[in-house]
This record gives sequence, C-alpha cells and structure tokens, in this order.
Amino acid sequence: MSDCSSCPSNGKCGNDSGQCGVVNNPANKIKNVIGVMSGKGGVGKSTISAMLASELKKKGYRVGLLDADITGPSACRLMGVTGKKAYSDGKNIIPVENEEGIKVISLNLLLPDENQPVVWRGSLLSNCVVQFWNETLWGELDYLIVDMPPGTGDITLTVMQSIPLAGVIVVTLPQDMVAMIVNKAINMAKLMKIKILGVAENMSYTLCPNCGEKIRIFSGNSGEDFCKENDTVLLGSLPVDPDLAALSSEGKAHLKDEIADVFAQMAQKVIKAVENE
Ligand code: ADP
Repeated sequence: MSDCSSCPSNGKCGNDSGQCGVVNNPANKIKNVIGVMSGKGGVGKSTISAMLASELKKKGYRVGLLDADITGPSACRLMGVTGKKAYSDGKNIIPVENEEGIKVISLNLLLPDENQPVVWRGSLLSNCVVQFWNETLWGELDYLIVDMPPGTGDITLTVMQSIPLAGVIVVTLPQDMVAMIVNKAINMAKLMKIKILGVAENMSYTLCPNCGEKIRIFSGNSGEDFCKENDTVLLGSLPVDPDLAALSSEGKAHLKDEIADVFAQMAQKVIKAVENE
C-alpha cells in the first residue's frame, strides 16, 4: 500500500487512491526526485548525475544519489566512496555519505568486491531498484538524483513506475546515431507522462589547450537543434575534458571555470524547472 503522505508527489500526481504502484518509506521525506536518463550508455549520464548532485549540495540543499544502473554502477567512484559499505539495520538500508555530505546508494556499496558481476534476471534488477527507493533510509532530502540505467527496458520502466519522479534530465551527444536512440528515451518519458526538465549535451566540443578554441568532435545536430526538435530546453553543453574524465577515478574534479559554470547553470535551471511545477 502506498503511503501518499510521505510521497514527493503527494497532492501533485492527481492520484490519491494509494493504487499507483509507488511504495514509499514513511521514514523518508524527499521533496524532489530527479531522474537522469539517456537511451544510450556511455554518454556521461553518471558523470552528470554526480556533478548535479554536487552542485545542488553546494547550493545548500540536502542531496542523495540513487544509482539505478545496477549492472554498471559507477556512483561509488564518481562520488568518492569506493571502499565504504552500506548496510542493512534489519529494517532499512543505511546509505553511505561522501565527503560533501551527499547520501549515496549503489549496488557496489553492498557487494564484497566491486569487480563482482551482477548476473541477475530483469525482475531481480527491478526489485533492487525498488528496494533502493523504499528501503534506503534517506531521511529528509531536498533532491534525490536517480542515475537511471541506459536503454528503455525493464529497469527504466520500473524506475518510472515505482519512483515518483518530478522530472527527468536527458543526456545526449551531438551525434545523429546517439540522438536517434536518445529520442526513444524522450518518447518513453512522454509516454509515461514524466516531465522532461531539459537536455544536457555532453561531449559537445573540446577546448584547444593552446588557444582555448572550441573544436566540435561530432558532426550531428547541435544540442539546441535537438531540443527544438523535441520541444524541450537545453540545460547546458559540456566539453570532452580530461578533468571530467578524472572524476570517475578520483571522485573529485578540479574543473576549469568554464565547465564549472555549465554545471552551476544546469543546476539552477533544474531547480527552476522543478519549482515551477
Ligand atoms: P554513462 O553513465 O552514460 O554510461 P559515464 O558518465 O559513466 O556515462 O561516462 C562514460 C565514460 O566517459 C566515463 O569513463 C567518464 O569518465 C567519461 N566521460 C563522460 N563525460 C565526459 C566528458 N565530458 N569528458 C571526458 N570524459 C567523459
């Protein structure tokens, strides 16, 4: 039975029947849940989830990160919590907290060895995501970022049906083949009546280390054109940059001002989009 009073969508979803399929944990009070999705893997979804969580934390919000990419979890490294362990107190899953104070749950935090593969069928993977939502003791959060799995399959569907998302951020690259697949993710969100908060364009260009000129790597439509075609807004365009790549091994990024600004603006636009709900 769903507990509407502890649901982030309480009073906003138009369904107070308790029959929506969302099971909330009454110990949690989460104001806004934001999914970060992309039909395609490897486009920077996890990197952007981690940086967005960090930006929101810097702005003084209480933030959590739920790694729903169960078979390819990367949150531990990106959030700098490799080696830490989450645990169950018999009732709830206790997430780990990173240096910045962001609460993180990821399957790797529960596995004895991060190299251990997760060879599970779809139903188990989906159950795991649901447990991460309703058994993790998140406490009071302003924002929970959900790093969604790639693709438009089983787990993505479970996230959309079982977690009350305020909206999703869609990550894409300026390459036509990627755009075609990301379009599927956008159409899935529309089908599921989930608000698209905007698009983050990753690997849009690289900066010449000598003159700072922006060099485009892919020849596909720009993020702005992609957004026009999909009737949504561009949250920001990020370059391919070694500092961003380093985040996945060091859990910390010393970003160039130009890139840090993109993330700061992205977070601001997301806050505005959620608050305008
Ligand atoms: P996804 O979650 O979509 O699978 P990741 O965020 O894990 O993608 O990124 C895939 C790989 O690309 C990672 O190794 C990450 O460090 C790297 N990466 C992502 N975005 C950038 C970027 N803008 N510049 C450099 N490397 C990046």
